[in-house]
Amino acid sequence: MLIGDQWRHATSGRTLAVFNPATGEEIAQVPDADIDDVNHAVAVARETGREPHWRDMLPAVRERLLLKFADLIEQHGDELAHLETLNQGKPLGIARAVDVGAGVQWLRYMAGWATKIDGSVVDLSFPVPEGTRYRAMVRREPVGVVGAIVPWNFPLAMAIWKIAPALATGCTIVLKPAEETPLTALRIAELALEAGLPPGVLNVITGRGESAGAALVAHPDVAKISFTGSTEVGRLIGQRCGADIRRVALELGGKSPVIVLDDCDVEVAIQGAAAGIFFNSGQVCTAGSRLYVPKRKFEQVVDGVAAVADALEVGSGFEMTTQIGPMVSRRHRERVLGLIRTGTSEGAELLAGGDAPDRPGYFVRPTVFAHTSGTPLTLVREEVFGPVLVAMPYDTIDDVIRQANDTEYGLAASVWTTHIGNAMRIADRLEAGTVWINTHNVIDPAMPFGGVKQSGIGREHGRAAIDAYTECKSVCVAY
Ligand code: NAD
Repeated sequence: MLIGDQWRHATSGRTLAVFNPATGEEIAQVPDADIDDVNHAVAVARETGREPHWRDMLPAVRERLLLKFADLIEQHGDELAHLETLNQGKPLGIARAVDVGAGVQWLRYMAGWATKIDGSVVDLSFPVPEGTRYRAMVRREPVGVVGAIVPWNFPLAMAIWKIAPALATGCTIVLKPAEETPLTALRIAELALEAGLPPGVLNVITGRGESAGAALVAHPDVAKISFTGSTEVGRLIGQRCGADIRRVALELGGKSPVIVLDDCDVEVAIQGAAAGIFFNSGQVCTAGSRLYVPKRKFEQVVDGVAAVADALEVGSGFEMTTQIGPMVSRRHRERVLGLIRTGTSEGAELLAGGDAPDRPGYFVRPTVFAHTSGTPLTLVREEVFGPVLVAMPYDTIDDVIRQANDTEYGLAASVWTTHIGNAMRIADRLEAGTVWINTHNVIDPAMPFGGVKQSGIGREHGRAAIDAYTECKSVCVAY
């Protein structure tokens, strides 16, 4: 683990095995941190945050260091993409474009914010003593030490979603990657030092959620927890932060609807719905896992998506023809296959996939179900986080909006149409943090992102992220 500028083992000496999900082979051992290691990392982050050289550094210097950090990640892009594919399993092209590419883009975007954080000046109406006036300067200050906990689906990108705004605003950070995918986070922390970031600004601890993660969440010197992961764990973290009155941002699960309208371009909708669910092997929080199609077009669209699913190449992320990589772990593959079995046993019609190919590694074939009876289905309610789609017919716009909103989640949705007016009216009525029209899974550092309902609290990216990593301070002057 990298704490300050020191590579450390866990104090306990314990380690965790890391696997290649495409083969099931062990590829590394990383420290299995516990509370002692977390206490040390938070103490280092806190001291660094206090010293004038980070929090009070000229904004332009912080900006320059973050840009240098981004340059180094870009220069090591090929190495980082290979490491991500080896550890996470995703196709190398996605690792290059999304994990590394977006990571660099996010760092550069947030670096620019370092010199643009401003507040306001307000004239007050406080009436006494007579003749005295008051003016307040409202400035934004870094919240302090940020504890960041990220999942395994986009390990590098998710880490940078937290690191970039935290460092741009002058916070320091202790990052805990997922136990399955710690390797790229460790490597970029090393690159941060090489870029000239002061030691202690970015610390990475590896370990299990229930020990290292929970210790980070409970630490009294951590000012904010930024968490991306399951709703179940998010609820635990929210409870703890609520009890401690600590800032918390939760980016949680989803069950995002894809709504095809009667006036759609059918071929565009088929390709869009398939990409919406199968991108990154369905291991995407915004995956479009519920497909709603007007009755009249149901067979045509759903058969089209099933044909795309059948044609997708499943294999190692290092093979250039691969479109669907493995699930991240054996445990996760078993969960996905278990949920597929519930689809069949609860009466949905299997149109594509539904099983695991006969080869080593944690693969699941892209799967499409049609569900026309309207009876309750676990797959419509529960997040799978894998390449599994359920398609359902609808009659009217009111009917589809009701079905789309009938979920405990509210992360994202997409609408497919050639009539922008229809899409705009539907977008207004959908309960989701992001609604896409004629696209799905477009995420950008300038566009706020996050969920409503059980999909989370808070927004990442854009100005919203700057607000989320800073605290308002009013300085009131009498004159
Ligand atoms: P998870 O919640 O089990 O783990 C996520 C992270 O939390 C890991 O680093 C893990 O070690 C840590 N963790 C686990 N238990 C903890 C605890 N008690 N205290 C502190 N930390 C703990 O989820 P996962 O299985 O790794 O990831 C898949 C889930 O993440 C899916 O449900 C998916 O929807 C969600 N996700 C959401 C987004 C988003 O932006 N909203 C993005 C990616 C993934």
